[in-house]
Amino acid sequence: MRSYHEPARQTPIRESVDVLVVGGGSAGLCAAVAAARTGARVVLAESHGFLGGTLTAVTLGSICGLYTVTEDDIVPAVGGLLSEIIERLAFLEGPRAPIRWLETATMVYDPFLLRMVADNLVTETDMTLALHTRAVSVIMDGSQIDGVVFEGQDGRWACRAKMVIDCTGDGTIAALAGARFEMDPDSIQFPNPMFRLGGVNTDKVTAMKRPELSQYLEQAVASGFELPRTAGGLFVIHPGAVHLNVTRVARDGMPPNTLETEDVTWAEIEGRRQVMLYRDAFRAHVPGFENCYVDDCGTRIGVRETRRITGQHSLSVDEVMGEARFDDAIACCSWPLEEHGAGRATRWVWLRPGGYYQIPFRSLIPLEIEGLLIAGRCISASHEAQASLRVAAPCMAMGQAAGTAAAMAIDGSVRVTDLNCEHLQERLLQQGAIIHKRGSKIA
Ligand SMILES: Cc1cc2nc3c(=O)[nH]c(=O)nc-3n(C[C@H](O)[C@H](O)[C@H](O)COP(=O)(O)OP(=O)(O)OC[C@H]3O[C@@H](n4cnc5c(N)ncnc54)[C@H](O)[C@@H]3O)c2cc1C
Repeated sequence: MRSYHEPARQTPIRESVDVLVVGGGSAGLCAAVAAARTGARVVLAESHGFLGGTLTAVTLGSICGLYTVTEDDIVPAVGGLLSEIIERLAFLEGPRAPIRWLETATMVYDPFLLRMVADNLVTETDMTLALHTRAVSVIMDGSQIDGVVFEGQDGRWACRAKMVIDCTGDGTIAALAGARFEMDPDSIQFPNPMFRLGGVNTDKVTAMKRPELSQYLEQAVASGFELPRTAGGLFVIHPGAVHLNVTRVARDGMPPNTLETEDVTWAEIEGRRQVMLYRDAFRAHVPGFENCYVDDCGTRIGVRETRRITGQHSLSVDEVMGEARFDDAIACCSWPLEEHGAGRATRWVWLRPGGYYQIPFRSLIPLEIEGLLIAGRCISASHEAQASLRVAAPCMAMGQAAGTAAAMAIDGSVRVTDLNCEHLQERLLQQGAIIHKRGSKIA
Protein backbone atom coordinates (compact mmCIF):
# COMPACT_ATOMS: atom_id res chain seq x y z
CA MET A 1 0.00 0.00 0.00
CA ARG A 2 1.30 3.49 -0.85
CA SER A 3 1.78 5.77 2.15
CA TYR A 4 1.89 9.47 2.92
CA HIS A 5 4.50 10.72 5.37
CA GLU A 6 2.67 13.13 7.67
CA PRO A 7 4.77 16.13 8.72
CA ALA A 8 5.68 16.28 12.43
CA ARG A 9 3.62 18.78 14.39
CA GLN A 10 3.35 20.36 17.82
CA THR A 11 0.21 19.28 19.66
CA PRO A 12 -1.06 21.55 22.45
CA ILE A 13 -1.44 19.87 25.85
CA ARG A 14 -4.77 21.41 26.71
CA GLU A 15 -5.41 19.49 29.92
CA SER A 16 -3.30 17.89 32.63
CA VAL A 17 -5.40 15.94 35.09
CA ASP A 18 -5.47 13.08 37.56
CA VAL A 19 -7.84 10.79 35.69
CA LEU A 20 -8.66 10.78 31.98
CA VAL A 21 -11.63 8.65 30.97
CA VAL A 22 -11.94 7.88 27.26
CA GLY A 23 -15.42 6.85 26.14
CA GLY A 24 -18.62 7.99 27.82
CA GLY A 25 -20.79 4.87 27.60
CA SER A 26 -22.10 2.82 30.54
CA ALA A 27 -18.61 2.25 31.93
CA GLY A 28 -17.08 5.63 31.08
CA LEU A 29 -19.93 7.72 32.47
CA CYS A 30 -19.74 5.91 35.79
CA ALA A 31 -15.92 5.89 35.83
CA ALA A 32 -15.72 9.65 35.34
CA VAL A 33 -18.40 10.50 37.92
CA ALA A 34 -16.92 8.09 40.48
CA ALA A 35 -13.37 9.40 40.00
CA ALA A 36 -14.49 13.02 40.33
CA ARG A 37 -16.61 12.29 43.40
CA THR A 38 -13.60 10.54 44.96
CA GLY A 39 -11.69 13.81 44.62
CA ALA A 40 -9.78 13.47 41.34
CA ARG A 41 -9.50 16.12 38.63
CA VAL A 42 -11.16 14.41 35.67
CA VAL A 43 -11.52 14.78 31.92
CA LEU A 44 -14.13 12.65 30.15
CA ALA A 45 -13.78 12.49 26.35
CA GLU A 46 -16.45 11.04 24.08
CA SER A 47 -16.61 10.85 20.30
CA HIS A 48 -20.40 11.26 20.08
CA GLY A 49 -22.21 14.48 20.93
CA PHE A 50 -23.88 12.85 23.94
CA LEU A 51 -23.10 10.32 26.66
CA GLY A 52 -24.45 6.83 27.25
CA GLY A 53 -22.62 4.94 24.48
CA THR A 54 -24.45 1.86 23.28
CA LEU A 55 -27.39 2.65 25.61
CA THR A 56 -28.11 5.95 23.87
CA ALA A 57 -26.31 5.76 20.50
CA VAL A 58 -27.37 2.28 19.44
CA THR A 59 -30.36 2.48 21.80
CA LEU A 60 -31.38 -0.62 23.75
CA GLY A 61 -34.73 -1.80 25.01
CA SER A 62 -33.70 -2.23 28.58
CA ILE A 63 -30.85 -2.15 31.09
CA CYS A 64 -29.79 -5.77 31.62
CA GLY A 65 -27.82 -7.39 34.42
CA LEU A 66 -29.39 -5.24 37.08
CA TYR A 67 -31.10 -8.01 39.04
CA THR A 68 -30.76 -11.52 40.36
CA VAL A 69 -34.07 -13.28 39.91
CA THR A 70 -35.90 -16.21 41.43
CA GLU A 71 -39.52 -17.27 41.05
CA ASP A 72 -40.37 -15.11 44.08
CA ASP A 73 -37.79 -12.33 44.16
CA ILE A 74 -36.24 -9.65 42.00
CA VAL A 75 -33.20 -8.35 43.85
CA PRO A 76 -30.59 -5.79 42.66
CA ALA A 77 -27.20 -7.21 41.68
CA VAL A 78 -25.81 -3.79 40.78
CA GLY A 79 -26.27 -0.67 42.90
CA GLY A 80 -24.20 2.50 43.29
CA LEU A 81 -24.36 4.96 40.41
CA LEU A 82 -26.79 2.79 38.48
CA SER A 83 -29.33 3.11 41.32
CA GLU A 84 -28.89 6.87 41.12
CA ILE A 85 -29.36 6.79 37.34
CA ILE A 86 -32.62 4.83 37.75
CA GLU A 87 -33.81 7.35 40.36
CA ARG A 88 -32.97 10.22 38.05
CA LEU A 89 -34.81 8.54 35.15
CA ALA A 90 -37.82 8.11 37.44
CA PHE A 91 -37.66 11.81 38.33
CA LEU A 92 -37.86 12.72 34.62
CA GLU A 93 -40.63 10.34 33.55
CA GLY A 94 -42.12 8.67 36.62
CA PRO A 95 -41.00 5.35 38.08
CA ARG A 96 -40.83 2.14 36.08
CA ALA A 97 -40.83 -1.31 37.68
CA PRO A 98 -38.48 -4.06 36.53
CA ILE A 99 -40.12 -6.42 34.02
CA ARG A 100 -39.67 -10.19 34.11
CA TRP A 101 -38.11 -11.23 30.82
CA LEU A 102 -37.28 -14.83 29.88
CA GLU A 103 -35.77 -16.26 33.08
CA THR A 104 -34.50 -12.91 34.32
CA ALA A 105 -35.71 -9.34 34.81
CA THR A 106 -34.72 -6.07 33.25
CA MET A 107 -35.45 -2.33 33.34
CA VAL A 108 -36.95 -0.57 30.31
CA TYR A 109 -35.73 3.00 29.78
CA ASP A 110 -36.13 5.88 27.36
CA PRO A 111 -32.82 6.49 25.51
CA PHE A 112 -33.30 10.24 25.15
CA LEU A 113 -34.02 10.64 28.85
CA LEU A 114 -30.90 8.64 29.63
CA ARG A 115 -28.89 11.16 27.62
CA MET A 116 -30.44 13.88 29.79
CA VAL A 117 -29.63 12.01 33.00
CA ALA A 118 -26.02 11.60 31.85
CA ASP A 119 -25.80 15.33 31.01
CA ASN A 120 -27.12 16.22 34.44
CA LEU A 121 -24.83 13.80 36.28
CA VAL A 122 -21.75 15.15 34.55
CA THR A 123 -22.57 18.84 34.67
CA GLU A 124 -23.42 18.58 38.37
CA THR A 125 -20.02 16.98 39.01
CA ASP A 126 -16.74 18.91 38.96
CA MET A 127 -15.09 17.58 35.79
CA THR A 128 -14.31 18.56 32.21
CA LEU A 129 -16.38 16.96 29.47
CA ALA A 130 -15.19 16.95 25.85
CA LEU A 131 -17.84 15.78 23.35
CA HIS A 132 -17.25 15.21 19.62
CA THR A 133 -13.72 14.31 20.68
CA ARG A 134 -12.05 11.17 19.39
CA ALA A 135 -8.92 9.61 20.86
CA VAL A 136 -6.41 8.97 18.08
CA SER A 137 -3.09 8.17 19.76
CA VAL A 138 -1.42 7.78 23.13
CA ILE A 139 1.54 9.44 24.84
CA MET A 140 3.82 6.77 26.26
CA ASP A 141 6.85 6.88 28.52
CA GLY A 142 8.13 3.34 28.16
CA SER A 143 5.36 1.09 29.39
CA GLN A 144 3.65 3.99 31.22
CA ILE A 145 0.72 5.73 29.52
CA ASP A 146 1.07 9.46 30.16
CA GLY A 147 -1.82 10.81 28.15
CA VAL A 148 -3.95 10.65 25.05
CA VAL A 149 -4.12 12.71 21.85
CA PHE A 150 -7.55 13.66 20.57
CA GLU A 151 -9.10 15.06 17.42
CA GLY A 152 -11.84 17.45 18.44
CA GLN A 153 -13.98 20.01 16.69
CA ASP A 154 -11.13 22.51 16.95
CA GLY A 155 -8.30 20.25 15.90
CA ARG A 156 -5.81 18.06 17.62
CA TRP A 157 -4.97 18.36 21.32
CA ALA A 158 -3.54 16.27 24.09
CA CYS A 159 -4.50 15.50 27.65
CA ARG A 160 -1.88 14.28 30.11
CA ALA A 161 -3.12 12.19 33.02
CA LYS A 162 -1.77 10.26 35.98
CA MET A 163 -4.28 7.49 35.22
CA VAL A 164 -6.16 6.73 32.02
CA ILE A 165 -9.30 4.59 31.98
CA ASP A 166 -10.14 2.96 28.66
CA CYS A 167 -13.92 2.81 28.37
CA THR A 168 -14.08 2.79 24.57
CA GLY A 169 -15.76 -0.62 24.42
CA ASP A 170 -13.24 -1.55 21.72
CA GLY A 171 -10.21 -1.31 24.03
CA THR A 172 -8.83 1.29 21.63
CA ILE A 173 -6.58 3.07 24.14
CA ALA A 174 -5.11 -0.15 25.50
CA ALA A 175 -4.44 -1.37 21.96
CA LEU A 176 -2.80 1.93 20.99
CA ALA A 177 -0.64 1.63 24.12
CA GLY A 178 0.53 -1.78 22.98
CA ALA A 179 -1.50 -3.91 25.40
CA ARG A 180 -2.10 -7.51 24.45
CA PHE A 181 -5.63 -8.42 23.48
CA GLU A 182 -7.74 -11.26 22.12
CA MET A 183 -10.10 -10.95 19.19
CA ASP A 184 -10.90 -13.70 16.75
CA PRO A 185 -12.81 -11.93 13.92
CA ASP A 186 -14.35 -15.27 12.89
CA SER A 187 -15.97 -16.00 16.25
CA ILE A 188 -16.93 -12.60 17.67
CA GLN A 189 -20.62 -12.04 18.25
CA PHE A 190 -22.67 -10.64 15.39
CA PRO A 191 -23.55 -6.94 15.47
CA ASN A 192 -26.96 -5.52 14.70
CA PRO A 193 -28.84 -2.23 14.48
CA MET A 194 -31.58 -1.46 16.97
CA PHE A 195 -34.73 0.42 16.02
CA ARG A 196 -38.10 1.52 17.27
CA LEU A 197 -41.45 1.03 15.56
CA GLY A 198 -44.29 3.49 16.18
CA GLY A 199 -47.99 3.11 15.43
CA VAL A 200 -48.10 -0.27 17.18
CA ASN A 201 -50.96 -1.76 19.17
CA THR A 202 -48.82 -2.25 22.26
CA ASP A 203 -51.56 -4.04 24.22
CA LYS A 204 -51.17 -6.92 21.74
CA VAL A 205 -47.39 -6.78 22.04
CA THR A 206 -47.49 -6.93 25.83
CA ALA A 207 -49.69 -10.02 25.65
CA MET A 208 -47.43 -11.76 23.08
CA LYS A 209 -45.09 -14.50 24.33
CA ARG A 210 -41.58 -14.73 22.90
CA PRO A 211 -42.20 -18.11 21.18
CA GLU A 212 -45.26 -16.61 19.47
CA LEU A 213 -43.11 -13.85 18.02
CA SER A 214 -40.66 -16.44 16.71
CA GLN A 215 -43.54 -18.34 15.12
CA TYR A 216 -44.81 -15.21 13.34
CA LEU A 217 -41.31 -14.41 12.10
CA GLU A 218 -40.76 -18.00 10.93
CA GLN A 219 -44.05 -17.66 9.01
CA ALA A 220 -42.63 -14.48 7.45
CA VAL A 221 -39.53 -16.44 6.41
CA ALA A 222 -41.73 -19.18 4.92
CA SER A 223 -43.60 -16.53 2.93
CA GLY A 224 -40.40 -15.17 1.39
CA PHE A 225 -38.96 -12.61 3.82
CA GLU A 226 -35.26 -13.44 4.16
CA LEU A 227 -34.99 -12.64 7.86
CA PRO A 228 -31.60 -13.45 9.39
CA ARG A 229 -33.09 -13.83 12.89
CA THR A 230 -36.47 -14.92 14.17
CA ALA A 231 -35.87 -14.92 17.95
CA GLY A 232 -35.76 -11.40 19.24
CA GLY A 233 -36.71 -9.03 22.02
CA LEU A 234 -39.58 -6.55 21.94
CA PHE A 235 -39.79 -3.83 24.60
CA VAL A 236 -42.71 -1.44 24.94
CA ILE A 237 -41.01 1.90 25.59
CA HIS A 238 -44.18 4.02 25.54
CA PRO A 239 -47.77 3.30 24.47
CA GLY A 240 -47.64 2.73 20.70
CA ALA A 241 -43.81 2.53 20.59
CA VAL A 242 -41.83 -0.71 20.57
CA HIS A 243 -38.07 -1.15 20.67
CA LEU A 244 -36.87 -4.14 18.62
CA ASN A 245 -33.74 -6.24 18.97
CA VAL A 246 -34.35 -8.65 16.07
CA THR A 247 -31.88 -7.99 13.27
CA ARG A 248 -28.54 -9.76 12.70
CA VAL A 249 -25.86 -8.52 10.34
CA ALA A 250 -23.71 -11.23 8.76
CA ARG A 251 -21.42 -10.92 5.75
CA ASP A 252 -21.12 -14.15 3.81
CA GLY A 253 -22.25 -15.92 6.98
CA MET A 254 -19.53 -14.33 9.12
CA PRO A 255 -19.61 -11.46 11.63
CA PRO A 256 -18.36 -8.24 10.01
CA ASN A 257 -15.26 -6.79 11.68
CA THR A 258 -16.52 -3.41 12.88
CA LEU A 259 -12.95 -2.26 13.54
CA GLU A 260 -12.38 -2.21 9.77
CA THR A 261 -13.72 0.71 7.73
CA GLU A 262 -14.85 -1.32 4.75
CA ASP A 263 -16.68 -3.91 6.87
CA VAL A 264 -18.33 -1.43 9.24
CA THR A 265 -19.50 0.73 6.32
CA TRP A 266 -21.06 -2.32 4.69
CA ALA A 267 -22.59 -3.37 8.03
CA GLU A 268 -24.22 0.01 8.69
CA ILE A 269 -25.89 0.00 5.25
CA GLU A 270 -26.92 -3.65 5.54
CA GLY A 271 -28.32 -2.94 9.01
CA ARG A 272 -30.61 -0.20 7.74
CA ARG A 273 -31.73 -2.43 4.87
CA GLN A 274 -32.73 -5.02 7.48
CA VAL A 275 -34.68 -2.43 9.49
CA MET A 276 -36.93 -1.87 6.47
CA LEU A 277 -37.17 -5.61 5.80
CA TYR A 278 -38.32 -6.25 9.38
CA ARG A 279 -40.78 -3.35 9.28
CA ASP A 280 -42.41 -4.96 6.26
CA ALA A 281 -42.34 -8.46 7.79
CA PHE A 282 -43.88 -7.18 11.04
CA ARG A 283 -46.58 -5.29 9.12
CA ALA A 284 -47.49 -8.43 7.19
CA HIS A 285 -47.15 -11.14 9.85
CA VAL A 286 -47.14 -9.88 13.45
CA PRO A 287 -50.48 -8.90 15.08
CA GLY A 288 -50.48 -5.33 16.36
CA PHE A 289 -47.92 -4.09 13.82
CA GLU A 290 -50.21 -3.70 10.78
CA ASN A 291 -49.79 0.11 10.69
CA CYS A 292 -46.30 0.40 12.13
CA TYR A 293 -43.60 2.78 10.89
CA VAL A 294 -39.92 3.21 11.72
CA ASP A 295 -39.92 5.83 14.44
CA ASP A 296 -36.19 5.82 15.15
CA CYS A 297 -33.02 3.86 14.55
CA GLY A 298 -29.74 4.02 16.51
CA THR A 299 -27.08 6.43 15.26
CA ARG A 300 -24.73 3.48 14.75
CA ILE A 301 -24.80 -0.29 14.46
CA GLY A 302 -24.66 -2.13 17.80
CA VAL A 303 -21.36 -3.87 18.47
CA ARG A 304 -21.27 -6.63 21.08
CA GLU A 305 -17.68 -7.74 20.93
CA THR A 306 -14.34 -6.63 19.53
CA ARG A 307 -11.06 -6.59 21.49
CA ARG A 308 -10.86 -8.24 24.91
CA ILE A 309 -7.79 -6.75 26.58
CA THR A 310 -5.56 -9.23 28.37
CA GLY A 311 -5.45 -8.36 32.03
CA GLN A 312 -4.06 -9.76 35.27
CA HIS A 313 -7.00 -12.17 35.40
CA SER A 314 -9.03 -13.34 32.42
CA LEU A 315 -12.55 -14.25 33.56
CA SER A 316 -13.46 -17.71 32.26
CA VAL A 317 -16.79 -19.26 31.37
CA ASP A 318 -16.31 -21.79 34.19
CA GLU A 319 -16.03 -18.90 36.64
CA VAL A 320 -19.19 -17.35 35.19
CA MET A 321 -21.23 -20.56 35.31
CA GLY A 322 -19.67 -21.63 38.62
CA GLU A 323 -20.62 -18.29 40.21
CA ALA A 324 -17.02 -17.53 41.17
CA ARG A 325 -16.15 -15.38 44.17
CA PHE A 326 -12.91 -13.37 44.32
CA ASP A 327 -11.00 -11.65 47.13
CA ASP A 328 -10.61 -8.60 44.88
CA ALA A 329 -14.24 -8.57 43.64
CA ILE A 330 -15.50 -5.15 42.59
CA ALA A 331 -18.88 -6.01 41.07
CA CYS A 332 -21.51 -8.72 40.70
CA CYS A 333 -22.99 -9.98 37.45
CA SER A 334 -26.13 -12.07 37.20
CA TRP A 335 -26.70 -11.97 33.45
CA PRO A 336 -26.71 -15.28 31.57
CA LEU A 337 -24.38 -16.13 28.76
CA GLU A 338 -26.16 -14.49 25.80
CA GLU A 339 -24.33 -15.31 22.61
CA HIS A 340 -25.38 -13.90 19.26
CA GLY A 341 -23.72 -16.31 16.86
CA ALA A 342 -24.65 -17.65 13.45
CA GLY A 343 -28.19 -18.88 12.75
CA ARG A 344 -31.60 -17.36 13.39
CA ALA A 345 -31.64 -17.96 17.17
CA THR A 346 -29.56 -16.73 20.14
CA ARG A 347 -27.73 -19.05 22.57
CA TRP A 348 -28.72 -18.54 26.19
CA VAL A 349 -27.04 -20.32 29.11
CA TRP A 350 -28.64 -19.47 32.41
CA LEU A 351 -27.10 -19.12 35.84
CA ARG A 352 -29.12 -20.85 38.53
CA PRO A 353 -32.11 -18.78 39.82
CA GLY A 354 -30.82 -16.04 42.14
CA GLY A 355 -27.24 -16.75 41.06
CA TYR A 356 -24.45 -14.32 40.28
CA TYR A 357 -20.68 -14.29 39.90
CA GLN A 358 -18.19 -11.63 40.88
CA ILE A 359 -15.90 -9.63 38.63
CA PRO A 360 -12.35 -9.31 40.00
CA PHE A 361 -10.46 -6.01 39.96
CA ARG A 362 -7.54 -7.80 38.24
CA SER A 363 -9.67 -8.20 35.09
CA LEU A 364 -9.64 -4.38 34.80
CA ILE A 365 -5.83 -4.14 34.96
CA PRO A 366 -4.10 -4.70 31.61
CA LEU A 367 -0.83 -6.60 31.61
CA GLU A 368 2.38 -4.71 30.94
CA ILE A 369 0.96 -1.18 30.66
CA GLU A 370 1.24 1.13 33.67
CA GLY A 371 -1.24 3.88 34.51
CA LEU A 372 -4.10 2.27 32.61
CA LEU A 373 -7.36 0.61 33.65
CA ILE A 374 -10.04 -0.86 31.40
CA ALA A 375 -13.76 -1.02 32.13
CA GLY A 376 -16.81 -2.18 30.20
CA ARG A 377 -17.23 -4.82 27.55
CA CYS A 378 -13.50 -4.93 26.66
CA ILE A 379 -12.15 -6.17 30.02
CA SER A 380 -10.10 -9.32 30.34
CA ALA A 381 -12.43 -12.28 29.76
CA SER A 382 -12.91 -15.23 27.46
CA HIS A 383 -15.29 -14.92 24.50
CA GLU A 384 -18.02 -16.82 26.38
CA ALA A 385 -17.56 -15.00 29.69
CA GLN A 386 -17.77 -11.69 27.81
CA ALA A 387 -21.12 -12.83 26.39
CA SER A 388 -22.44 -12.48 29.94
CA LEU A 389 -20.61 -9.53 31.50
CA ARG A 390 -20.97 -7.19 28.49
CA VAL A 391 -24.48 -5.92 29.36
CA ALA A 392 -25.01 -2.39 30.63
CA ALA A 393 -25.44 -2.85 34.41
CA PRO A 394 -22.16 -4.70 35.11
CA CYS A 395 -20.38 -2.31 32.72
CA MET A 396 -21.58 0.57 34.90
CA ALA A 397 -20.43 -1.22 38.05
CA MET A 398 -16.99 -1.84 36.51
CA GLY A 399 -16.78 1.81 35.52
CA GLN A 400 -17.63 2.95 39.03
CA ALA A 401 -14.97 0.66 40.45
CA ALA A 402 -12.31 1.74 37.95
CA GLY A 403 -12.96 5.45 38.53
CA THR A 404 -12.90 5.04 42.30
CA ALA A 405 -9.75 2.91 42.18
CA ALA A 406 -7.91 5.37 39.92
CA ALA A 407 -8.74 8.30 42.19
CA MET A 408 -7.78 6.36 45.34
CA ALA A 409 -4.47 5.26 43.85
CA ILE A 410 -3.57 8.83 42.95
CA ASP A 411 -4.67 10.12 46.34
CA GLY A 412 -2.57 7.48 48.09
CA SER A 413 0.38 7.91 45.69
CA VAL A 414 0.40 4.18 44.94
CA ARG A 415 0.34 2.30 41.68
CA VAL A 416 -3.14 1.01 40.96
CA THR A 417 -1.74 -2.54 41.05
CA ASP A 418 -0.65 -1.91 44.66
CA LEU A 419 -4.00 -0.52 45.78
CA ASN A 420 -5.41 -2.18 48.87
CA CYS A 421 -8.45 -3.98 47.48
CA GLU A 422 -10.23 -4.14 50.82
CA HIS A 423 -10.09 -0.34 51.01
CA LEU A 424 -11.44 -0.13 47.46
CA GLN A 425 -14.28 -2.50 48.34
CA GLU A 426 -15.12 -0.50 51.48
CA ARG A 427 -15.28 2.69 49.43
CA LEU A 428 -17.49 1.06 46.81
CA LEU A 429 -19.84 -0.29 49.46
CA GLN A 430 -20.07 3.22 50.97
CA GLN A 431 -21.16 4.37 47.48
CA GLY A 432 -23.97 1.80 47.48
CA ALA A 433 -22.23 -0.66 45.16
CA ILE A 434 -23.08 -4.35 45.52
CA ILE A 435 -20.07 -6.68 45.78
CA HIS A 436 -20.36 -9.39 48.38
CA LYS A 437 -23.97 -9.60 49.25
CA ARG A 438 -27.30 -9.37 47.52
CA GLY A 439 -29.34 -6.20 47.79
CA SER A 440 -32.80 -6.10 49.34
CA LYS A 441 -35.76 -7.69 47.67
CA ILE A 442 -37.62 -5.14 45.52
CA ALA A 443 -40.35 -7.16 43.84
C1 LIG B 1 -27.37 -4.92 19.47
C2 LIG B 1 -27.07 -4.88 20.95
C3 LIG B 1 -28.08 -5.07 21.86
C4 LIG B 1 -27.82 -5.02 23.21
N1 LIG B 1 -28.86 -5.13 24.08
C5 LIG B 1 -28.64 -4.86 25.37
C6 LIG B 1 -29.74 -4.69 26.26
O1 LIG B 1 -30.89 -4.79 25.88
N2 LIG B 1 -29.45 -4.38 27.55
C7 LIG B 1 -28.16 -4.24 28.00
O2 LIG B 1 -27.97 -3.94 29.18
N3 LIG B 1 -27.12 -4.40 27.18
C8 LIG B 1 -27.32 -4.68 25.88
N4 LIG B 1 -26.27 -4.74 25.03
C9 LIG B 1 -24.89 -4.67 25.55
C10 LIG B 1 -24.51 -3.33 26.14
O3 LIG B 1 -25.30 -2.32 25.73
C11 LIG B 1 -23.08 -2.89 25.87
O4 LIG B 1 -22.21 -3.97 25.76
C12 LIG B 1 -22.63 -2.00 27.00
O5 LIG B 1 -23.46 -0.88 27.05
C13 LIG B 1 -21.19 -1.63 26.76
O6 LIG B 1 -20.83 -0.54 27.59
P1 LIG B 1 -19.38 0.07 27.45
O7 LIG B 1 -19.37 1.28 28.31
O8 LIG B 1 -18.37 -0.97 27.63
O9 LIG B 1 -19.26 0.51 25.91
P2 LIG B 1 -20.14 1.50 25.04
O10 LIG B 1 -21.48 1.67 25.57
O11 LIG B 1 -19.98 1.03 23.62
O12 LIG B 1 -19.37 2.88 25.22
C14 LIG B 1 -18.15 3.16 24.61
C15 LIG B 1 -18.10 4.65 24.35
O13 LIG B 1 -16.79 5.01 23.93
C16 LIG B 1 -16.87 5.91 22.85
N5 LIG B 1 -15.64 5.78 22.09
C17 LIG B 1 -15.22 4.68 21.41
N6 LIG B 1 -14.02 4.94 20.84
C18 LIG B 1 -13.69 6.20 21.19
C19 LIG B 1 -12.55 7.03 20.90
N7 LIG B 1 -11.53 6.60 20.14
N8 LIG B 1 -12.53 8.29 21.40
C20 LIG B 1 -13.56 8.74 22.17
N9 LIG B 1 -14.66 8.00 22.46
C21 LIG B 1 -14.71 6.75 21.98
C22 LIG B 1 -18.11 5.47 22.09
O14 LIG B 1 -18.62 6.51 21.30
C23 LIG B 1 -19.04 5.07 23.23
O15 LIG B 1 -19.82 6.16 23.67
C24 LIG B 1 -26.50 -4.80 23.67
C25 LIG B 1 -25.47 -4.61 22.75
C26 LIG B 1 -25.75 -4.64 21.41
C27 LIG B 1 -24.64 -4.38 20.45
